[in-house]
Amino acid sequence: MLMIDEFFILHRNGLSLFHIRLDEDSFAIELPAELFAGFSSAIVAFSSELGAGYLSKIVIEDQTFVFEVMEELITVAKISGDDDEAMAEHVVSLLYREFITDFHDELKHFDGTVRKDIFFSFAEKVRDITTKCEEIAKTNPTLLANIPASIDIDIIKQLSDFSNELVDDFPEATIRLTRRFQKEIPKNVMHITMFKLGKEVGKDVAKKRIKKKVNDKAIMKILKEISVSDCKDDKITLKICPFCRGRETEEFDCDFVAGFIEGAYNDPKIMVEEISCHAVGDKNCVFKIKRIENDGKNSHHHIFTGLSKSGS
Ligand SMILES: [Zn+2]
Repeated sequence: MLMIDEFFILHRNGLSLFHIRLDEDSFAIELPAELFAGFSSAIVAFSSELGAGYLSKIVIEDQTFVFEVMEELITVAKISGDDDEAMAEHVVSLLYREFITDFHDELKHFDGTVRKDIFFSFAEKVRDITTKCEEIAKTNPTLLANIPASIDIDIIKQLSDFSNELVDDFPEATIRLTRRFQKEIPKNVMHITMFKLGKEVGKDVAKKRIKKKVNDKAIMKILKEISVSDCKDDKITLKICPFCRGRETEEFDCDFVAGFIEGAYNDPKIMVEEISCHAVGDKNCVFKIKRIENDGKNSHHHIFTGLSKSGS
């Protein structure tokens, strides 16, 4: 199954800069790129006039157009029926970023009369990136939706290739791979990425290891495999945390562990936050379990450890 059928980069003035059709074998009618560019720029202008933010998708029958509007460009992927929208969004953001990096100078001097074949070389990158994304999606259907598009696709691919090890060879491989991966992530998205990754891994490890009811005791049993740990008053202490061992950081460093514990509980009423960390000079890494009393509807905003620390 091919995920993205067609891909466009359009200028907000209504010009098509780049267009590629990836499903060459199908008999679907190719969209006239210039017509589509005019239509898209009009509807993007219209949707921003409404004041409700930018257009994110258009659905026509069984075809979905996923949009990203940034600065002067409109980046669009066309997908069919069953394909994953979250994944397409990821690919669109990724390709937008690659495009402005590759053609920074051309775009700066673009006045609408430049020959479009200057962008032709982008086709190779589109094929490369969509292929990688499809491979990742095949083995890890939720990974791309969980990871910011600013992370290099090759790093995500590596992570995807090791995803079985992360869960099956817990805790040794989990610790080793997580430490390696964390170093590769841009600082601005590190906390959220590691938290989400931890949550996915924690969920899977708990599913595998806990045969009966998920409770504090069962989760502590898993955490004891990572480190000397105890739990008191909803505070979990890791006495020798192997995730941040040997690291000295300005901000709390163990987002993966916080996410891991939250994922292991797999309960929307339970959130976990790191409240002290060995990496910043605290004695131990301590994680607070927050049990939300309401139905959890207002609780999806997790406070990431690093963000809350720098914000206070
Ligand atoms: Zn820590």
